[in-house]
Amino acid sequence: MEYVGSIYRPPSEAHSMIIQVAVGCSHNKCTFCGSFKDKKFFIKDMKTIKADIDEAASYNNSFDKVFLADGDVLILPMEKLLEIMNYIHKKSPQVTRIGVYGNTKAILKKTVSELKELKDAGLGIVYQGIESGNKEVLRRVKKGAFPHKQKETADKIKSAGILLSQTVLLGLGGVELSREHAIDTGKHLGDMSPDYASALTVIIEPHTELYQQMRAGKFKLPDKFGLLTELKLMLENMDVKNDCFFASNHASNYLPIKALLPKEKQKAIALLDNVISSGDMSILRPEHMRAL
Ligand code: SF4
Repeated sequence: MEYVGSIYRPPSEAHSMIIQVAVGCSHNKCTFCGSFKDKKFFIKDMKTIKADIDEAASYNNSFDKVFLADGDVLILPMEKLLEIMNYIHKKSPQVTRIGVYGNTKAILKKTVSELKELKDAGLGIVYQGIESGNKEVLRRVKKGAFPHKQKETADKIKSAGILLSQTVLLGLGGVELSREHAIDTGKHLGDMSPDYASALTVIIEPHTELYQQMRAGKFKLPDKFGLLTELKLMLENMDVKNDCFFASNHASNYLPIKALLPKEKQKAIALLDNVISSGDMSILRPEHMRAL
């Protein structure tokens, strides 16, 4: 496989075949994200992509899911996306789902009927990092997308019948905007009601702008229990309109929680309440076991 640089994929795509069709992220400006800082965005040529699909098919076709990397594959033109997906199915007919990361700008460029076309061609899930539901937090971290636009994208993906998985970042508002970030993000997730929602915790990597801000004393992360309080506030304010599988079991988090919302919301909040009021650090994931 001709992978360029480090490859990132959502945890739920751990067993998927990864085909890198583009390199980097076309936005690449988020202050907290170091994933693609070493890569200048480009779309790979079809010959290279097809060679990787051929190679994947040669592995006895022992996979049923494919994830198209890197950062925001939905920015690719329709013709190219359709050609890639059709070729995957031709070579690996057992594939039942294709997944991609889609940022807000990329999704907005596609119409609902184009998204439906992609769904018919095999696109089964879109992963979208929304990070926060608070406008000021999104402005500060240079996400390039505000809540009303993110809501538009969620509506489009869902109208096309594609599964939507969204992630948010605990701690992203720092101590200063911690409460607003948590409440607004919970409300925003409820409003969008994705099929899956995950809360990760910001890990500040040295080569990011956020790290420089932290060093300069302009950003301070909430402490462990402050982050758990954010998680609790988020859940309290998250009123979903359909079933949503919520998880904070990513390795970056101090406390793994899984809940099928709305059914298990109160149970998850009660658990968080107990842990927060206990103040017991030993319950939390040790620092050395946290990672992005
Ligand atoms: S968080 Fe997503 S949109 Fe922002 S720079 Fe990283 S990959 Fe690109």
